Amino acid sequence: MSAAPDSQVLPYPPLNLLESASLFLDFDGTLVDIADRPDAVVVDQALNSLLADLARRHDNCIALISGRSIAQLDALIGPIARNIALSGSHGSEYRWNGTLAHPVRPASLEQVERVMRDAATGHPGSLVETKSFGVALHYRLAPEFESEARALAARLAGQFDLALQEGKMMVELRVPGSDKGVAVTTMMRRREMAGTRPVFIGDDVTDEEGFEAARTFGGTGILVGPPRETAASYRLPDPAAVRHWLAGESQ
Ligand SMILES: [Mg+2]
Repeated sequence: MSAAPDSQVLPYPPLNLLESASLFLDFDGTLVDIADRPDAVVVDQALNSLLADLARRHDNCIALISGRSIAQLDALIGPIARNIALSGSHGSEYRWNGTLAHPVRPASLEQVERVMRDAATGHPGSLVETKSFGVALHYRLAPEFESEARALAARLAGQFDLALQEGKMMVELRVPGSDKGVAVTTMMRRREMAGTRPVFIGDDVTDEEGFEAARTFGGTGILVGPPRETAASYRLPDPAAVRHWLAGESQ
């Protein structure tokens, strides 16, 4: 990971960054606050309106780039999800103008899920999440499980040749060969994105590849949350500030 030289004091992003930009937006922790359970996230009407407005202002050059599956994003966001480009499952699947592209789900994920569920039984509050192209083990409500959960995931990744993805209080095994940088690169090669400058906004370590890919295409990254080593060039403190900035309102 390459760090911006002044990663500890990243500035508030200037509003003119939005001009001629294509927007690549993470979802959890970026547009909505992270909930204790992934299914407890709430999408309000204001977010729906903001996404519709952004799609119009940016000539549909807007994409959600999430670790969630496209099916989960559809369920959470509702009809507006049909109007924006989506990349789900950490760059494994895509939907653009109604056309869905996705890999085959490896059968090994079912074995992995059984092992994770067995391990989670001894840790009340932990949660195994079946995803379209992965399995996630959440320990936000069972923090004592963290080191065991991460070691288990690392072992299973090696055993079944799956990609290991660590996130905020969770670890996930998924189809290898993709990440959020791959998602940005894939989408930036679309004709519709030609001439745009990608701005990637995200909060998690999984968003770093997205920041780096945005830079490769002459764009930039905006980190959401507390300062840390990052490839982003700007920072916003929380999802409320992201929405405020995206709405074109100054600091
Ligand atoms: Mg996030």
